[in-house]
Amino acid sequence: MRAELVVIGAGPAGLAASLAAAARGARVVLVDAATETGGQFYRQPAAALGAGRPETLHHRWRTWERLRDGLAASSVRVLTDHHVWCVERTSGGFTVHALLGPEQEEPAEVHARAVLLATGGYEHVLPFPGWTLPGVVTAGGAQAMLKGSLVVPGRRAIVAGTGPLLLPVATGLAAAGVEVAALVESTGPGRLARHGRALAGRLPEGAGYAARLLRHRVPVLARHTVVRAHGDDRLTGVTVAALDTAGRVRPGTERQLPCDTLAVGHGMLPHTDLAEGLGCGLDGLAVAVDAEQRTDVPGVWAAGESTGIGGAALALAEGHIAGCSAAAHLRGTTPAPAPTALKARTNLRRSAAALDAAYAPPAHWPEQVTDDTVVCRCEEVTAGAVRDALDLGAGDERTVKLLTRAGMGWCQGRMCQSAVAGLAGCPPAPSRRPLARPVPLGVLARQHTQEELS
Ligand SMILES: Cc1cc2nc3c(=O)[nH]c(=O)nc-3n(C[C@H](O)[C@H](O)[C@H](O)COP(=O)(O)OP(=O)(O)OC[C@H]3O[C@@H](n4cnc5c(N)ncnc54)[C@H](O)[C@@H]3O)c2cc1C
Repeated sequence: MRAELVVIGAGPAGLAASLAAAARGARVVLVDAATETGGQFYRQPAAALGAGRPETLHHRWRTWERLRDGLAASSVRVLTDHHVWCVERTSGGFTVHALLGPEQEEPAEVHARAVLLATGGYEHVLPFPGWTLPGVVTAGGAQAMLKGSLVVPGRRAIVAGTGPLLLPVATGLAAAGVEVAALVESTGPGRLARHGRALAGRLPEGAGYAARLLRHRVPVLARHTVVRAHGDDRLTGVTVAALDTAGRVRPGTERQLPCDTLAVGHGMLPHTDLAEGLGCGLDGLAVAVDAEQRTDVPGVWAAGESTGIGGAALALAEGHIAGCSAAAHLRGTTPAPAPTALKARTNLRRSAAALDAAYAPPAHWPEQVTDDTVVCRCEEVTAGAVRDALDLGAGDERTVKLLTRAGMGWCQGRMCQSAVAGLAGCPPAPSRRPLARPVPLGVLARQHTQEELS
């Protein structure tokens, strides 16, 4: 298939970008691995579930309706169930390589003059004793079950970790009938207050969540952490403890709370694999972009959480600006994004930076990780094995990986990379994965044969 612009990711950023570019005359193909458009924020229940009122699980439903209806009325060609594993630079532009459907064995290609990466982010979860027990899920995973499958993960839940995502998860589960026994947030109110000016614009949203927590009688344990999950063959409860100002567990404050579900998350990390494969520069752990959302590789734009974690509204603004810019460059005109989008991006980036500074995992979390705690779930590498590697002289993630296999499994370190870095006492480094997801050798072999024949 051929297009002028291929947009990868149909979340808020990719949808806004596709609509903006198509409205300015670009022939756009929008590709996503999911079966429906919407991304994480507007995740939709499968049609077969016959959800009567999906809007009850969502915020800003009107915006979604505008995006959904706009897409249906536009010239954008939507390809769902396309899992992109690589974007290749070619003489005429780019080739997007994808695997089709849930099996991910059949290849598909899209050729385009320009690429816009809107691949979002993924959850950051740090290990603690018992975190691999059935019943422990990620906060976003619990939310995805609710929005996408209309199921709740259990009857009595604790939502824990740090970050703004815990708020919609706790209130969403409570509204769906789950008894939320506690929202355990490691950040204290003082840290949020320190960023009060930058966060002023988010106050109404925060107040809304506070009212819902109150209405559902969800106790909030601020500056607390989960130190252990208990259970033999599945979760039966957790031990929580208070933290001191340095982020250490305060001795004597531990107490057990029974639950059958622990929804835990420590923030989000940007998806950068496809951008890195193309050679795009990074800014910290996110894809670096200029004022038009262009990466430093000509013909490649990026928007939304792949360029930094900031929420759905920021993703929408960035997507619009990126789509306008890409269309203008394809048409040889000057980009003219809506001034409201430019203003929103400035304000929302400021508050996202403040949220990022306020919400951070407890500084001394590795002290709670016992030697028998599994850190790399794919390769079943324990914290003890990582510490042994450090004793042998390993001083960075890569050497720990070579000595222990941590990060060499199916997820290629997405889950364990920052945990290994934390245990090793070094900052997490960009991951540099040549392929964004596992690819059957047969697909690679077939492609090679085709290239030889052509
Ligand atoms: C699990 C989860 C649940 C969340 N729930 C909430 C919530 O309830 N409330 C809230 O305020 N925020 C939530 N967030 C954060 C919120 O989703 C984001 O702020 C917002 O959706 C970012 O928009 P985006 O367009 O940048 O990315 P996303 O919405 O994440 O969209 C990215 C899209 O790219 C697609 N994609 C990624 N890689 C590939 C690939 N290689 N090939 C093909 N497609 C690809 C994904 O399938 C996805 O549809 C959640 C985040 C996660 C990870």
